[in-house]
Amino acid sequence: MSHMFVPGPVDVAPEVLQAMAQPLVPHRSKEYEAIHRRAAEKSQKLFFTDFRVLIGTHTGSGMQEAGVRNLAQKDILSCVNGAFSQRWYDVAVTNGKNPVRFDVEWGKAVSPDALSDQLKKKHFEAVTIVHNETSTGVESPLKELCRVVKEVSPDTMILVDAVSSLGGAKIEMDAWGVDFLLTSSQKCLALPPGLSLVGVTDRALEKAKTVQNRGWYFDLLRMEKHRIKNSTAMTPAVSLVYALDFQLDRMFAEGIENRFLRHSSMSQRVYNWALENGMTPFAEEGARSKTVATINNDRGLDIPLLNAFLMKKYQMRIANGYGDLKGQTFRIATMGETSMENIDALLHAIEEFMHQ
Ligand SMILES: *Cc1c(COP(=O)(O)O)cnc(C)c1O
Repeated sequence: MSHMFVPGPVDVAPEVLQAMAQPLVPHRSKEYEAIHRRAAEKSQKLFFTDFRVLIGTHTGSGMQEAGVRNLAQKDILSCVNGAFSQRWYDVAVTNGKNPVRFDVEWGKAVSPDALSDQLKKKHFEAVTIVHNETSTGVESPLKELCRVVKEVSPDTMILVDAVSSLGGAKIEMDAWGVDFLLTSSQKCLALPPGLSLVGVTDRALEKAKTVQNRGWYFDLLRMEKHRIKNSTAMTPAVSLVYALDFQLDRMFAEGIENRFLRHSSMSQRVYNWALENGMTPFAEEGARSKTVATINNDRGLDIPLLNAFLMKKYQMRIANGYGDLKGQTFRIATMGETSMENIDALLHAIEEFMHQ
């Protein structure tokens, strides 16, 4: 039974937690290398890529840092339409890059036409895009955005944060032409926090060779050197890699297309329920997230009180709005192991709170 309707960390299946309880093996051993290799190769299916998937034993924000450190010496276009895309901009600034901020109103998707205009103003080595803004529940049209970058500025690296969507909504890395596609373990993959995965193209590694001051821990070329040996430069979080290996099999057993459909049906259910109950989705039509439904708090619910009620009576928890949107919106995650039954039970419980 799922209780955590928050966009990470999400509920983890007991058998996945159990997979972490296996005895540890040294990371420089044939046993570990076999598991690492299996997990990395299976991950490629989730990314729809034939390129490598690197496993990082740090969270997704670390991969945001790796992306901007390795794939641009200076000039980055940062698309900002929420808190996590703003973080990525901040990561670029604090790493000494020269990002240009392309602000989009919160609640709106990054539009391909507007991106095209930005790209025509000057040449950028890289563009950063958050596919699914967890702070606002907005999904941007990534396929079209990639198409525009390829048209206007084909050598610009396309960096995408899909922390709250990869594995929960379809993202075709190779077909769409993403160069650097990152995610974290604690959201759609329904694993404990602490791992991140990134798909990296060959041309991104070529670009990295030309960039100075890539650092040590997040140097993509060092990561790749060790990946070829089915390991990492430093001690990996071995137990989490056991869990990843195990969880990927569970995801393929469900079928990833089935998983995507389950997530989009659940989010649609939440949007419909909100509209039936006099509340509107925060995201504009056509850009509504499939994995985290963000609802305007049009009925003025006291969200902390609602959560206290849900916790006490049903051991459930939803997420308040993010940052400035706290109190104005609330968020219901429809990712990971959550089922339609869980969503129905939650919505009934919220109605009970509203009518008490
Ligand atoms: C959660 C989240 C992050 C931060 O990920 P960490 O794994 O906590 O570093 C970044 N981007 C998006 C879109 C997120 O939802």
